[in-house]
Amino acid sequence: MQCDNCGKEGAFIRKVTKTFGKGDDLLVIEDVPIIHCPHCHENYLTAETVHELDDIRRARKGATRRSVDVSIFAA
Ligand SMILES: [Zn+2]
Repeated sequence: MQCDNCGKEGAFIRKVTKTFGKGDDLLVIEDVPIIHCPHCHENYLTAETVHELDDIRRARKGATRRSVDVSIFAA
């Protein structure tokens, strides 16, 4: 896959977990496909993914309640 940023071949899709908001508004979205380029070390989302993330966040599409541990970085 060609990198949109530097134009070189070799970019690939990685699945990451993204979190949005905090406290009671916290939403965790797993398996978000991001494109990673080993040449310029850029990580980016396709326009399609950004759009889908907006949909998910607005409607909390597919959201299920899960008990998770949340740590706050306090230094
Ligand atoms: Zn690149």
